[in-house]
Amino acid sequence: MKKHNFYAGPSILPQYTIENTAKAIIDFSDMGLSLMEISHRSKQFIAVMDEATALFKELLKIPDGYSVLFLGGGASLQFCMIPYNIMKKKSAYLNTGSWASKALKEGKLFGEAIEVASSKDKNFSYIPKNYEIPADADYFHITTNNTIYGTEIHEDFDIDIPLVADMSSDIFSRPIDVSKYAIIYGGAQKNLAPSGVTFVILKNDILGNVDRAIPTMLDYRTHIDKDSMFNTPPVVPVFAALQTLKWLKNNGGIAEMQKKNIFKSNLLYDEIDRNKLFVGTVAKEDRSLMNICFVMNEEYKELEGDFFEFASSKGMIGIKGHRSVGGFRASTYNALPLESVEALVACMKEYENLKA
Ligand SMILES: *Cc1c(COP(=O)(O)O)cnc(C)c1O
Repeated sequence: MKKHNFYAGPSILPQYTIENTAKAIIDFSDMGLSLMEISHRSKQFIAVMDEATALFKELLKIPDGYSVLFLGGGASLQFCMIPYNIMKKKSAYLNTGSWASKALKEGKLFGEAIEVASSKDKNFSYIPKNYEIPADADYFHITTNNTIYGTEIHEDFDIDIPLVADMSSDIFSRPIDVSKYAIIYGGAQKNLAPSGVTFVILKNDILGNVDRAIPTMLDYRTHIDKDSMFNTPPVVPVFAALQTLKWLKNNGGIAEMQKKNIFKSNLLYDEIDRNKLFVGTVAKEDRSLMNICFVMNEEYKELEGDFFEFASSKGMIGIKGHRSVGGFRASTYNALPLESVEALVACMKEYENLKA
């Protein structure tokens, strides 16, 4: 049976990425050696790193004056690396979910990290609006897509202080204006590559302004100076990321992805809104295009486990909601084909006919 992969992360990757990486694991670049056993200093791998960096810049139209890094440690390490490198005394955070809360917690280790607004009052089911950002903060941190709760900030902000964004789960899902950001970062395992590599896009001139000593490995300048090769980079995930970047380019780039993502997510949200059994969990204007959360309608609550079984029997994988929301979450990342969304919608309709 065909499996439809709705996992939130690590998650579905293009078949192109999986096949090319599998081939390179057997024989990389006609070297007669596996990608797993070659030096990261070989000219063949340096070419992979260079091309990945160049394609990242091309696809996101990254302006001059920015660096692109591929690091280890996950998005979670960036939660502390960012304040370590750019927070003098004060920073500001928008608290839109678990990941944002974790980022804020690390900021507090370095001085006065302020929560400017939070949607915790309603279990993070909306994006707070109309808050004030302190003008004397060194940066403002946002999480553009809240993977667990299914909310998303759909526009690039205009603010007067450096803007820092965790884009772990929506990078490459829509065109962004990188010039509005000082740092964009994320774990690769949602929309780009297998886990193990973290991307960081940063504006070079925000560095060098803090007085504290920064450990070598946590200092962005170390990695900029050595083109992400100060120590051994995650070779296999970087290779896989390059394949996804090529796939993005071959498939019309990010604008085309956005069109498909809008179409796919509308299809599923329309069914959630139409179907008597289900209801969405977040404010409509803040609905994520990447992680679609829904629960059973109040009067059908007891059917939750049964629908999960039913959907699983039809090949739907990974649709259990995160424990902090319950119900269901279908992640509809770039690589998820329309066919999988159609299959889930058909499954929801069929179940409604059986039960309502
Ligand atoms: C998955 C995720 C993270 C954590 O990423 P790690 O690479 O596991 O540290 C952080 N932020 C968001 C928005 C995520 O979706």
